[in-house]
Amino acid sequence: MSSSKAATALQSAALARVKPSATLAVTARARALKAEGRDILSLGAGEPDFDTPDFVKQAAIEAIGRGETKYTDTDGMAELKAAVVRKFARENGLGYEPSQIHVAPGGKAVIYNALVATLSAGDEVIVPAPYWVSYPDMVRLAGGEAVVVEAGADAGFKLQPGALEGAITARTRWLILNSPSNPTGAAYSRDELEALAQVLRRHAHVWVLTDDMYEHLTYGSFRFCTLAEVAPDLMDRILTVNGVSKAYAMTGWRIGYAGGSKPLIDLMRKVASQTTSNPCSISQWAALAALDGPQDFMDERRKVFQRRRDLVVQALNECEGITCAVPEGAFYVYPSIAGLIGKTAPDGTVIDSDEAFVTALLDSEGVAAVHGEAFGLSPFFRISYATGDDVLTEACARIRHFCDSLG
Ligand code: PLP
Repeated sequence: MSSSKAATALQSAALARVKPSATLAVTARARALKAEGRDILSLGAGEPDFDTPDFVKQAAIEAIGRGETKYTDTDGMAELKAAVVRKFARENGLGYEPSQIHVAPGGKAVIYNALVATLSAGDEVIVPAPYWVSYPDMVRLAGGEAVVVEAGADAGFKLQPGALEGAITARTRWLILNSPSNPTGAAYSRDELEALAQVLRRHAHVWVLTDDMYEHLTYGSFRFCTLAEVAPDLMDRILTVNGVSKAYAMTGWRIGYAGGSKPLIDLMRKVASQTTSNPCSISQWAALAALDGPQDFMDERRKVFQRRRDLVVQALNECEGITCAVPEGAFYVYPSIAGLIGKTAPDGTVIDSDEAFVTALLDSEGVAAVHGEAFGLSPFFRISYATGDDVLTEACARIRHFCDSLG
């Protein structure tokens, strides 16, 4: 039996409904071309190019020295939960008890634990598109149905109250909101969240998972706020998810956390107790140092990201056939290629989809980006600007050259 046939025979029904991550596939293809000696500029990364701050690394080294190398409480040690409680109070005005906090190996695990803990067959989860690639597949793995609702460019890539109202059914269990968003960088203002809260007040059976992973990466005059802060009356059915991965450049340490109602947190702990057990003890001490330590280094990083965002948006808007909105946050832009659909590349490739566009762009110019179809909204592509200015400038010049070459 071929290995792909063997894998098909082995695969569970739940896993058969899941696609492998498209963002990881692009990274793998770019890496393979690089290994062949091609000059590849990769704009696919979903992580800051900065290093973890030294004071965080030092806290981890000291934790090892003290022998903090054993199992901890399943969903996070008491010291870290106390730091998370302080973070939510200080930065979001949210009053959680330690018993309302869940810590897991990354924000991804937090979200997965919540979905596995609460979804039964046929339960629906509303996922605004474009979405972070993992939401619909995590919903399916957990046995639920993803109900994708378009939040297009005209709406600033944000879910509109009427669209939310129209998507809610008796089977709706969750709405997932992600602000600032991966892949668009769009972030909801206080008024926009309040408008969604008004709909949610009419549907008491709908819970909301807000993914605030990019909270600290917003630019200009935009002020981040989270749903539980805007609508404290809904707090009992909001799970506020966050983590240290993006804010503190700690993607490899694998620490995410959430605040929510105690009954939900108890169920999530039950999932973790039979799967991962505790997140890495050393990473927990590092995350504690990050949350309690000096936060001023973030201002510097924000300035750098904002400069790169502006550089990329301007350069892309100078490309024939591309239009790019200015996002409020994160480190992604999500330009439209509607003006290029139907054109032909010099090698005869017809650009009939965003996937054809990114494939031809990688093959002919060596620029790796991710097609919008992977995020549920075409024809767009995602660029991560979490890379050096020189790489971004060169990549945008190559994209422009590619667009000019299309006939
Ligand atoms: N949520 C969003 C929107 C993300 O983009 C990511 C990572 O790319 C995550 C959650 C997961 O973060 P973590 O690395 O902490 O699992």
